[in-house]
Amino acid sequence: MPGDAVEQLFGLQGEDALLAQLEHQINTLPEREKLSSVLETKSVTEDLIFVKQAESVEIRKNEKRLELELSSIETRLKEVDEKLYSGVITTEKEAKSLQDEIGHLKDRQDTLESELLEILSQIEDSTTTINELSSELEVINKDIQVLEGAIKRNENELRQKILEAKDRRGETVKVLTDEILKSYEAHREHFPSDAVVRFNGPTCNGCHLTMSAMETDRIKGLEVGALTECSECGRLVVR
Ligand SMILES: [Zn+2]
Repeated sequence: MPGDAVEQLFGLQGEDALLAQLEHQINTLPEREKLSSVLETKSVTEDLIFVKQAESVEIRKNEKRLELELSSIETRLKEVDEKLYSGVITTEKEAKSLQDEIGHLKDRQDTLESELLEILSQIEDSTTTINELSSELEVINKDIQVLEGAIKRNENELRQKILEAKDRRGETVKVLTDEILKSYEAHREHFPSDAVVRFNGPTCNGCHLTMSAMETDRIKGLEVGALTECSECGRLVVR
C-alpha cells in the first residue's frame, strides 16, 4: 500500500476531530445557555405580572365595594338629616334616635374613607409594580431576540465550517482504499479522537505504553508508511 495514502489517514482523522469539535461548539454555544437563563427569567416575570394583575383586580373590587357603601351611607345621611329637620319628629326620643344614627353613619363613613385612601394607595403601588415588570419584560424580550440572532449566526457559521470539513473529508476518502477506510472506521469506534497514531519508537503515541522490544523491532522492520496495530491498545499505527 502506498505510504502517502496512509498519510492521508491523518488528514482524515484531523477532519474528523475538527467535525467533532464543531458539533460540540454548536451544542455548547454560550449564547444558548444565556438564552435559557433569560427565558427562565421571562417566565418568572410573566408569572409575577399575572399574580400582580389578579391582585389588582381584587383591589379594584374592594374599591368598588367601598364606594358603593359610602354612596349608600351618604344617601341615608341625607334622608335622616331631612327627616330630623322636616318637623315630623315630635318627641325628644325620636330625635335622639336619629341623631344617634347620624353619629353611627358618620363613624362608619370615616372608617370607610380611610380604608378607601389605603386602597387607592394600594392601587397606585400595584400599577407602578405592573408597569415596572412590563418594562422589564420588554427588555427581556429584546435580549431574547438578540441572543436568538446571535445563536442563528454562530450556528450558521459553524455549519458552514462543517460542510467545508465534510467536503475535504470526502476528497480524502477518495484516495484511501476501502480496506484502510473500514479499518479506520472500526478503530474509531473505540478511539474516537486518535484511532490512528504515528510510530515513534517503543512508546505508543496513543496509549503511551511501552511495547516489547520484539514488537518494536517488528514495526521497525515494516516499510515506512505501512499500517499495523499497537499490541498494547490496538490503535492503528503507521510505521
Ligand atoms: Zn497503544
